[in-house]
Amino acid sequence: MELLFLLLPIAAASGWLIGRKERRRPSTPERTPTFSRGLNYLLNEQPDKAIDVFLKLSEIDTATVETHLALGALFRRRGEVERAIRVHQNLVARSSLDHAHLGLALYELGRDYMLAGLFDRAESLFEELVERQLQQKRALRGLIEIYQAEKEWTRCLETAKALQRLTQRPLGPETAHYHCELAEQCLRAGNVEQARSHLLDAQAEDEGGVRASLLQARMELAAGDPGTAALLYRRLVQRSPGYLPVMLPGLLECWRELGRESVTAELWALFDLHPSPPLMLRLCEAIESERSAGAARQFLVQYLSGRADLAGVQRLLELRLSGPSSGAEEDRALLDVVSHQLAQQPEYQCGHCGFEARELHWQCPSCKRWDSIKACEPDPITEPPILRQRKIA
Ligand SMILES: [Zn+2]
Repeated sequence: MELLFLLLPIAAASGWLIGRKERRRPSTPERTPTFSRGLNYLLNEQPDKAIDVFLKLSEIDTATVETHLALGALFRRRGEVERAIRVHQNLVARSSLDHAHLGLALYELGRDYMLAGLFDRAESLFEELVERQLQQKRALRGLIEIYQAEKEWTRCLETAKALQRLTQRPLGPETAHYHCELAEQCLRAGNVEQARSHLLDAQAEDEGGVRASLLQARMELAAGDPGTAALLYRRLVQRSPGYLPVMLPGLLECWRELGRESVTAELWALFDLHPSPPLMLRLCEAIESERSAGAARQFLVQYLSGRADLAGVQRLLELRLSGPSSGAEEDRALLDVVSHQLAQQPEYQCGHCGFEARELHWQCPSCKRWDSIKACEPDPITEPPILRQRKIA
């Protein structure tokens, strides 16, 4: 049924074209019985027979090219990539194809290859398009997608620069991430100087980029300068508090290196700024060790009064179980349920496509956007539960 609906516009357009061309020319491929037979096969859900008919059409003109392109796109959208490849390959092989349509068909074939995971073939098609100045921007974008998937960051940078030259528009944050990826590669290889150079480039591309500053703080810490690292972290917290969960381990390490005996006050200051679950857990831990388990429980009760946060409930139950409380059996049962629920929850989520993750990805693995994944926040409890219950009922 879906195919039928999708094809109706094509069929209608063909009909219109047939009518229009009838007035102009005596004969076109789409008014031939062969073309109609192809359409019939499609409408009867016999796509392979339809493809065979279309591929055997001796003549291809603008109208039939459009139909072929629409068909190929339709097959690809339905995940029938082999059929899409057949249609597009047939188009590309036609010597009668004009320049513009050849570019379109080559690009579409490249997208088919990408979907089929044949990156090498897609890459050479996109390179050919760039060279022949056909569909250049889309081909460069396609190449960037391939290099990103293959983690070829230098080639990502080169291609992004070519695209920038063509569009006269800066890519900013995206290129900064390529430099950050290269900096991380250099750090893994022990090449600190080169890493620093990439960081400077990243900061030049995207001045307020969180990732480059985080990397810099990590490098300062590794180089034995926890003071500078702590300062960088503090600035980052002020600027982008949503990234606190990923900064927290580094910040705590700075304080440890600096010999801070008490971190409760520091954590409270951060908590006031951005009360996220990971920070709540660290603060609770600090209150327990620097003051008492009772004070930690009190803190949690306060925290939970405004937030539907299972991590807080879990910690509270753990504290109750480790202390001299009654009803340990009930607490244990509650803890099991809460822990189970908590394990199902994502810690991070893409704000664009909703992809859920247990760790931070700078590029969303699903929609491939950069900087779109953020730490999840617990829902605020704005009304007394009893009122909410009544509304649901
Ligand atoms: Zn996404």
